[in-house]
Amino acid sequence: MATCGSLCCDGGFDKDGVSTTRTIESCLPLPLPVEILEDIVPKAKDFAILHGAGMRYRTNYDPDSLQLAPFFLLPSAFPRREFERVVKLQSIVNILMHRIAHDYQFLKDALEKTIKVDDFTRRLWDIYTTVREEGVSQLISLGMFRCDYFYSVPSQIAQQVEINTIASSFGALAARISVMHRYVLGELRKPELLGHLPENDALAGLCGGMIAAWDAYGCPKAVILFVVEDVTYNICDQRFHEYEIRRQRPDIHVIRRNLTQISQQGCLTSDKRLIIDGDEIAVVYFRAGYEPGQYHSEAEWEARLTVERSKAIKSPSIHYHLAGTKKVQQEIARPGVLNKFLSDSEAKLVSQLFTGLYTLDMSPEGDQAVQMAMENPERFVLKPQREGGGNNVYGQEIRTVLEKIKDSQEREAYILMDRIRPPIQQNYLIRAHEPVKLVEVVSELGIFGTILGTAKDIQFSKFAGHMLRTKLSSVNEGGVAAGLGALDSVFLFD
Ligand code: ADP
Ligand code: MG
Repeated sequence: MATCGSLCCDGGFDKDGVSTTRTIESCLPLPLPVEILEDIVPKAKDFAILHGAGMRYRTNYDPDSLQLAPFFLLPSAFPRREFERVVKLQSIVNILMHRIAHDYQFLKDALEKTIKVDDFTRRLWDIYTTVREEGVSQLISLGMFRCDYFYSVPSQIAQQVEINTIASSFGALAARISVMHRYVLGELRKPELLGHLPENDALAGLCGGMIAAWDAYGCPKAVILFVVEDVTYNICDQRFHEYEIRRQRPDIHVIRRNLTQISQQGCLTSDKRLIIDGDEIAVVYFRAGYEPGQYHSEAEWEARLTVERSKAIKSPSIHYHLAGTKKVQQEIARPGVLNKFLSDSEAKLVSQLFTGLYTLDMSPEGDQAVQMAMENPERFVLKPQREGGGNNVYGQEIRTVLEKIKDSQEREAYILMDRIRPPIQQNYLIRAHEPVKLVEVVSELGIFGTILGTAKDIQFSKFAGHMLRTKLSSVNEGGVAAGLGALDSVFLFD
């Protein structure tokens, strides 16, 4: 069984800042005997695909078939104390993000420089200010957040990687993989380990948020709109949200449209109701709209503005989206900021989630961060204002990038962050059409939270389930869709 402390590493760093020993034990002694592995892998694959842990094929897209989503055979070890700590803090983190999002001056000060050099963030900002000047027609926002954490070996606590305020995904598939791991441990005749697997109601929690927003809108005929990509590969995760809404509330209808379709089919009534193809929209759930590539032309930006102008309750509203930018997150971590938004005791607890975050503004403070990163690039991650994975800069490339931009305002489009060193363990990676592989991995925990309310009146703020994504320890980023990471679940250890 995994334990931290003696088995966990000492967290030492060599001179390049690379951690040395930081392995922890897996939930079972590995490798498994070959005959057991040969028996359990097909069972796990069947369980996963029969319970909808699938994705569309990226190459040779085919609407009639699904590919097994990549996953790990066994749940990965995560310290119970830290899991419980971040779960408990989620409702406060929700409230923090809600208050930040409603503080115009804070967002303005935080993003002022960023929007001069980052076009995408500026366009979001323009929508925000346009709607603000016209008068916001829906004061209620729905937050469906996911805070991502690594357990940091050197500091022995969970540290935040980022907070997602838009398109927080994998609530559905994560819950299914949790159930699959229960089945796998059962088949391996280890029922005594089941107590280490926390329940995961992420799907029910997230959909419960949308249903509460729908109720708050107060129009029985209105529907929920999912804003989706042109082609959805992560279709199971999204569809299960629809099915769960239907399960909880057979009276609520969901429609799906991409931004281009919304630009063609959407309109506002004189009292700002959003109508799409004759349906009034109560709630808008964005599963797209977080990357520049999803706005093909002005039409898609117009569509986003139309939605934002409307009375529909948005998840996220534009100010929630802006509060989730990397730059705002860096500004939140400045000393003293949390105390403006939370009580002293809450601020203290939340501040312990943050690792070092540094501005790269054209200022002496920014100069110092540039110098620090150039001297020790292995210790940092350089992040632009992007979501969706694959955009950050690591290691020696930080030097190369900073060398080019360090004397220009371009650097203000980025932030710098301490690199978190998670523990390494072994697990079996299962991917469609590939032999199962025993690999060294690190796991990133996502904690979902929902919040509903206006600036002054919060109806609820809740923890809404969790997810675990695990990736090869040798890669910088492990996007599940990109094939470098895979779905996993949590095995808690003391
Ligand atoms: P995105 O919005 O693209 O998901 P993230 O900030 O979550 O951006 O970074 C993407 C991935 O990069 C994370 O899932 C994690 O694997 C890695 N990463 C990000 N920040 C750090 C960090 N401070 N330390 C270590 N790895 C990180
Ligand atoms: Mg992320």
